[in-house]
Amino acid sequence: MVQCKAKSKRSGVQCRKHAVKGKAVCRIHGAYAGIKTPEGISRMKASKIKHGNFTKEAFQERRAFRELMKECKDCLSAANV
Ligand SMILES: [Zn+2]
Repeated sequence: MVQCKAKSKRSGVQCRKHAVKGKAVCRIHGAYAGIKTPEGISRMKASKIKHGNFTKEAFQERRAFRELMKECKDCLSAANV
């Protein structure tokens, strides 16, 4: 294990965490660059969704249904008059 090379700005004490493989620093000192691969991004998205009620598709579906209902109501009221 390689120790993180980062040092504290105030005390000058070196970070005691171990560095990420192939890097000089630990994850909190800049070795973590976020999720990069498309597979990882899709995995992250999937883990964030609980029931799908607030997904873009669900919003679009509800909007389309609402508009259809409005059209139906307008049609019916026009026919009755
Ligand atoms: Zn560190």
